[in-house]
Amino acid sequence: MGIIRRFQVQSPGMIDLEFDKAHIWHPYTSMQAPLPVFPVVSADGVTIELEDGRRLIDGMASWWSVIHGYQNPELNSAIKKQIDRMSHVMFGGLTHEPAIELCRLLVNLTPAPLQQVFISDSGSVAVEVAIKMAKQYWMSKGQYKKNKLLSLRGAYHGDTFAAMSVCDPVTGMHELFRGILPQNYFAERPSCRFGSPCTEEDLHSIRSLLETHHKDIAALILEPIVQGAGGMWFYSAEYLLKARQLCDEFDVLLIADEIATGFGRTGKLFACEHADIAPDIMCIGKAMTGGYMSLAATLCNSRISEGISGDGGVLMHGPTFMANPLACAASCASIRLLLESDWKSRIETIEKQLGQELAPCLQEESVQDVRVLGAIGVVEMHEAVNLHEAQQFFVDEGVWIRPFGKLVYIMPPYIIEAEELQQLSQSMHKFTRRRLHRK
Ligand SMILES: *Cc1c(COP(=O)(O)O)cnc(C)c1O
Repeated sequence: MGIIRRFQVQSPGMIDLEFDKAHIWHPYTSMQAPLPVFPVVSADGVTIELEDGRRLIDGMASWWSVIHGYQNPELNSAIKKQIDRMSHVMFGGLTHEPAIELCRLLVNLTPAPLQQVFISDSGSVAVEVAIKMAKQYWMSKGQYKKNKLLSLRGAYHGDTFAAMSVCDPVTGMHELFRGILPQNYFAERPSCRFGSPCTEEDLHSIRSLLETHHKDIAALILEPIVQGAGGMWFYSAEYLLKARQLCDEFDVLLIADEIATGFGRTGKLFACEHADIAPDIMCIGKAMTGGYMSLAATLCNSRISEGISGDGGVLMHGPTFMANPLACAASCASIRLLLESDWKSRIETIEKQLGQELAPCLQEESVQDVRVLGAIGVVEMHEAVNLHEAQQFFVDEGVWIRPFGKLVYIMPPYIIEAEELQQLSQSMHKFTRRRLHRK
């Protein structure tokens, strides 16, 4: 009974930051020395409202996901409608319209060979399932040695163990979990930039790894065109095309992780379209529900599904909240909204404006590189940014931008207006100058 008494009920409407600090983990934080967090009471359109009434223009789209902005009326109503039917029902032995409708959309929109869908609840799990599919496929062919993965330096594929094992070995958590993570192969980060050709030299690393180890490699896993949380790097479409051809040449499967790039972010519905290729397995997540709920999926072609299912085989995965009807309904509404919108021209407009407004940052001494693709703008600094100071700086500027490492970057909701976007890019530019003054 003592335990219960210790809790104090807060007066309604007050966010208890002391409790948060003492009891709640935030992403990648210490419980001893957590960075300050800002209390949010609501969000609408592209603005996040803090408890003290300050309004921030959101440059992050809540980690790539809120593409239509917050409180979209159509998404709100789709979810409310679904709540009145059922919020959840198990997916083992049962099925429902929101899941079927969603998978029909996904099969139609993704590269044509992808025909089977496994729905899960987060991006990392979608990557786990993709890896499991690839390994189970080769097991079904009696090729038990083909069980390693080939990944790229600079990659990010999630935080669960199999996903971590294909993240960049340096910026990923390989050192921390040395001896625990499965060992995989890593090719050099593609150095050929997006919009540039790709030479034989650029392909040397991936080709020689495949030549030497293809008998041990189940699949190449990569983020098509945009490497996200591993360094915000945009690489040549020709590299992606050649990587697909190398996979065919060496009989290695290709897994495309489109969790960050999917649903229009790079200017194509899926980034694979920049190279006009189809992977054998594809992961999607993040923007899939317009940022309303956690939902992800792994798609595969019939070669994979028939292989795994041959001789009475089954795919050994089944999350409790698989195909949650509320999340599926949100996702259907979000995808329909995207398709009915003029998303392509919106992204082009954002790309053009970001290109013009971020280019002057290159003149600053603190800045190493500026790159823009689709609705993604990146300013790479020479030195790592102090996250605590940077967050406070941007909040004072009235924007929400959260850098990591040397990277100050934005990927705003697609509905952002020109003046709001300008406020984001001006704050970024101001930030790069401020660093210089402080030296
Ligand atoms: C965010 C991300 C993941 C992990 O997704 P979670 O939903 O955070 O588990 C995997 N791959 C890529 C490319 C991502 O950007």
